[in-house]
Amino acid sequence: MGAETGSQARQKRIASLGYDYAAKPVRRALHCNLCGGDRFVTLAHRDRYGYPATADGCLRCGLVFLNPAMTAEAYTEFYIDVYRPLVSAYHGRTIDAASIQDEQRDYASARADFIEPRMRERSCKTLLDVGGSTGVVAHVMKQRFDLRATVIDPAPLEIEVARAFGLKTITGFVEDYDAGGATYDFIVLCQTVDHLLDVSLSLSKIRNLISDDGLFFVDIVDFRAAYRRNGSVEEAVKIDHPYYLTDETMRAYLSRSGFDVLGVDYAADHLHVGYLCAPGVQDPAALPDPARVDAQWREIRAIQNPLP
Ligand SMILES: [Zn+2]
Repeated sequence: MGAETGSQARQKRIASLGYDYAAKPVRRALHCNLCGGDRFVTLAHRDRYGYPATADGCLRCGLVFLNPAMTAEAYTEFYIDVYRPLVSAYHGRTIDAASIQDEQRDYASARADFIEPRMRERSCKTLLDVGGSTGVVAHVMKQRFDLRATVIDPAPLEIEVARAFGLKTITGFVEDYDAGGATYDFIVLCQTVDHLLDVSLSLSKIRNLISDDGLFFVDIVDFRAAYRRNGSVEEAVKIDHPYYLTDETMRAYLSRSGFDVLGVDYAADHLHVGYLCAPGVQDPAALPDPARVDAQWREIRAIQNPLP
């Protein structure tokens, strides 16, 4: 009997979770969440865990997304029971709310350094961290910039940890949040946009929640970076991410929802790209350059079929 390969051991760890993705309720999108287009290209038929997840790309704007994707109820259950164990099984080490704290602190300090010059030009008093998980990032930002901080996240266990930091917490989705007319001076959407179920709706909600002289920070896992470094589109797809953003599609989303990009940060990991934004005028027709969209499909075919 030969030695088990790393990839076989990984598949065994994932199989032992007994998560039956194929049996989960799904919803098929007929229109692109970014541009409303209805012509798609199917790019991948499985994800990095081996689940039969299909990723489509919008032929008009280049947005890549799971289609079909699980329903909101199925995702809620996924985040309660499956998400952290699945990521732990994939990496072969325990990744949970406690173990990610050091990593999150370093992540938050690096983002605060990037944001600081623009923060100094303003007098921001309040922070809303959307999808803020255990509150580590909000806590770092609160201390660095002397802010009153609120965390909104759908995971009750993570929100409990955030509350222990002395942060104001809201358990739920930003899409459903009724702020009663209140606004925030600084809103962050950190390592979260790819997990959202409706990016357009969430960004328009955030735009309504930000004060006129406010700042908004959002970062993406750059899909191009992810498939290039893995040399595989399937390895860049994972059921935890309904959306796969690129610099082009994220900028189009920001223009459409009324944000001006003040600065861009290619993170030290060469994977994440951060955008620091101010509220601006909406450009509801913003689209990536069609030549860039075509180039993306050609690049994906080249990655799927490297020269021998
Ligand atoms: Zn589109």
